[in-house]
Amino acid sequence: MATEQDVVAAAPKQLLVGGEWRDGSEGTLTVEDPSTGEPLCEIANASADDASAALTAASEAQAMWRNVAPRERGEILRRAYQLMVERADDLALLLTLEMGKSLKESKAEITYAAEFFRWFSEEAVRISGRYSNEPSGNGRLLTMKQPVGPCLLITPWNFPAAMGTRKIGPAVAAGCTMVVKPAKQTPLTMLALGKILEECGLPKGVLNIVTSSSSGTVMKPLIQDPRLRKLSFTGSTEVGRTLMEQAAPNLLRLSMELGGNAPYIVFDDADLDKAIEQAVIAKMRNMGESCVAANRFHVHESLAEEFTRRLADKLGSLKLGRGTDETTDVGPLIDGDQRDKVAELVDDARDKGATIVTGGSAREGNGYFYSPTVLGDVPGDARILKEEVFGPVAPVATFSTDDEALAAANDSEFGLVAYVFTENFGRAMRIVEGLESGMVGLNKGLVSNPSAPFGGVKQSGFGREGGFEGIEEYLSPKYVGLDI
Ligand code: NAP
Repeated sequence: MATEQDVVAAAPKQLLVGGEWRDGSEGTLTVEDPSTGEPLCEIANASADDASAALTAASEAQAMWRNVAPRERGEILRRAYQLMVERADDLALLLTLEMGKSLKESKAEITYAAEFFRWFSEEAVRISGRYSNEPSGNGRLLTMKQPVGPCLLITPWNFPAAMGTRKIGPAVAAGCTMVVKPAKQTPLTMLALGKILEECGLPKGVLNIVTSSSSGTVMKPLIQDPRLRKLSFTGSTEVGRTLMEQAAPNLLRLSMELGGNAPYIVFDDADLDKAIEQAVIAKMRNMGESCVAANRFHVHESLAEEFTRRLADKLGSLKLGRGTDETTDVGPLIDGDQRDKVAELVDDARDKGATIVTGGSAREGNGYFYSPTVLGDVPGDARILKEEVFGPVAPVATFSTDDEALAAANDSEFGLVAYVFTENFGRAMRIVEGLESGMVGLNKGLVSNPSAPFGGVKQSGFGREGGFEGIEEYLSPKYVGLDI
């Protein structure tokens, strides 16, 4: 098995532009290991001109790529799926080194990420149109779907592989070319994916990768370049809003996968063992640094004390450590800012009267560790119930009626996912229908699945990734009126 040094040494560290790996005009930027705070390596730092060159390559490849047979586009993705699976151990180690999560979580992410390539390899050959009568009977309508054109794909650091394949997969399948910009904290996984797609026969210029320490400066000219046709962004709501403003003059097609603040509702008839077991997954996957992480637990008052105590026992027993250690359950947070934000929200809740049942502090020493934390009796005005915590903290609040639970769940500007635990089917469906969210986990704490449409409502954005809907984001319908 490859060592840490081997996988870092083997990872590409340059920009991918028009099929060539090249240096960045702004020198290099440092990638850090969040479990130690130490540098891992230097990678290319792009200028706005480098990004423009990447878009030139994507634009020039577009006419060729849209005419490549759907089966061939699908086969490239299928081979990439296969290679990711074969290289899962090395990819997972690389991902852990730059992002921090445990090796078992990184392996799960690589598998999940690869599945987007497999799913969209199958969708590439199912792009279809329709033929219909005009309602008047005088003529026919023909509709076809065509690639939208060159896309800019911007991804966050929390799932460096999956947030990439979820966009690259459908773009490749639809016949779009692209410029990808990963987050500066976790670019190595994306660069490694670029190499894999190259090995699998993706033609030069279809996928271009730009890494930069100044994403705002380097991306804005690209977003306003008339050659670009679409922007797909995953990240914070704040940055999403800025990018929408920048994209407005160019009237870009947009997909916005933004922040979340998921409620986790446990009714009095829930299977409590299951609700607690699934709460650990919903809260602790990715150290809580997930847009679909359960952000706040609304538990019926009759169960709250037992739920809180048992969840605290589970979270308190998880082992914090470097992700590369096979016994680690919980890795570090991505950086010092993220750790400080988590601490701030916990302190605010405590100052307003919440009790700390377990955890409640950052770990001393190197790396950006924060102890898994459960907060009981969280008052309604605590910031943690309104803001995305993005860390291993579970605040528990109580409710007494269904209406109260639903109102509390919907009392958020976000609407990505919600989790509901009840054994009563009628109640379940009433609550599911009333929830203002793009996704619901019913008696389960994990909803992400490549064959399902992932996405949100309200300030969590719009557009869907995965499922049959995922490829539609990269296709434009064209209708032809037939005079027959
Ligand atoms: P972020 O700060 O918004 O950054 C996301 C990406 O945007 C990164 O690649 C970042 O690059 C880039 N970026 C930042 N400012 C930019 C600008 N002015 N112009 C162009 N690009 C810019 O978010 P994050 O902290 O990485 O990720 C966490 C957020 O993502 C959370 O809110 C989470 O809920 C959300 N998220 C949502 C989903 C979903 O599917 N809904 C999935 C995962 C994460 P640099 O970092 O290199 O500056």
